[in-house]
Amino acid sequence: MKKNCAIVGINWGDEGKGRMVDLLTGDYDVVVRYQGGGNAGHTVINEYGKFALHLLPSGVFRQGVTNVLGNGVALDPENLWKEIQEVTAKGVAITPENLKISDRASLLLPWHRALDGLEEARLADKKYGSTKQGIAPFYSDKYQKKTVMAGELFYPEHLKAHLKDLMEWKNLTLTKVYGAEAVTMEDLDQWLETYCEKIKPFICDTGAFLRQAEQAGKKILFEAQLGALRDLDYGIYPYTTSSNTLASFAPVGSGLPGAKIDQVVGVVKAYSTCVGEGPFVCELFGEEAQRLRDAGGEYGAKTGRPRRVGPIDLVATRYGVQMQAATNIALTKLDVLSDLDKIPLCVRYRVAGKETDDFPFPTLLDDCQPVTEYMEGWKQDISGVRRWEDLPQAAKDYVLRIEEAIGCHIGYVSVGPERDSIILR
Ligand code: GDP
Repeated sequence: MKKNCAIVGINWGDEGKGRMVDLLTGDYDVVVRYQGGGNAGHTVINEYGKFALHLLPSGVFRQGVTNVLGNGVALDPENLWKEIQEVTAKGVAITPENLKISDRASLLLPWHRALDGLEEARLADKKYGSTKQGIAPFYSDKYQKKTVMAGELFYPEHLKAHLKDLMEWKNLTLTKVYGAEAVTMEDLDQWLETYCEKIKPFICDTGAFLRQAEQAGKKILFEAQLGALRDLDYGIYPYTTSSNTLASFAPVGSGLPGAKIDQVVGVVKAYSTCVGEGPFVCELFGEEAQRLRDAGGEYGAKTGRPRRVGPIDLVATRYGVQMQAATNIALTKLDVLSDLDKIPLCVRYRVAGKETDDFPFPTLLDDCQPVTEYMEGWKQDISGVRRWEDLPQAAKDYVLRIEEAIGCHIGYVSVGPERDSIILR
């Protein structure tokens, strides 16, 4: 067993990472979230029920696993506290022993969510498809050094003065740019009391914890949110998220900047989905799209929005595998394709009259057309299959075709949402 492992998305997000982390946490001692916030949802189904986790690491369901929210996440005290309560209500204990929040994680402040909504309203039909969780305003403010770190909650006098300065600065934008209402110190006091005080017991120096864990030979799993094509630097900018979703950011965002990641498990769905605006070359429309969407239950875990769907995109997936430097692939939701007579694959892009295997510069994506090929379907239920040799030949051929095109071994094939619906290869 390799020591450190990152589980990351290869595409646009929603690849089924939560399900893979839930499966693999059994082999790890620590699970760390290192970027992003509550703007996406990992769906996990296990003995406690069905959960849509937004910020909590997916290791919270495993006894003996310590979960860490690293310094790179957008720490929203309100949403985190609500999520902790939801999970606790279903019988999962969340304690300072199994959840540790980095004192260096910056806090998503009450105005960040409001600003997302105000900016999307201003953009009107030019909007980017924000989930309105305040993530973009949060990260812009973090890089402007205009938010507070979780550890500041332990220094109340300093905190109040810091928050007051930030509030006065932010109220200029709220009132003068957007014509919205100003935030008051009373609002902030209430927010501190209702949410921040509740999460305070979980805040500590998680860097020190992780260093000790590493020295003690503990195995660490790094859990990403969204996928390579949403990475701020390497994705389909500006239709990206505001953080780095790549495995190479895991050491920085987790609190172990010197960590070596031994294994990167890239999660790829057997077909494509994309939430929100932006170029999506392989997109299907109409009845064909609706069938796939319903078969796969492709509605956003956080927003309930119908996801855009398409066949697997080998061009984008190969690029995602390269950006993530994936060492192993988990192919999920293969069972969803079981009804199709013929399975479409987007094998290349056509742009400016030429065909290409390479993922183009984002500006060119709008002018790309998919080149589609078809493979035979297997037309039988595969959700009960647990061994590679028991898969129908057509299903094996499909997996092998993807493996060859993306240049990375597919070590896991998922055929259902439950923890054990998996084929190891
Ligand atoms: P994540 O954010 O990457 O974890 O992905 P989501 O949670 O948005 O999407 C994964 C969805 O697919 C969840 O509803 C899972 O329970 C479900 N799922 C994951 N793997 C499989 C699979 O192999 N087959 C089926 N039918 N559903 C799956």
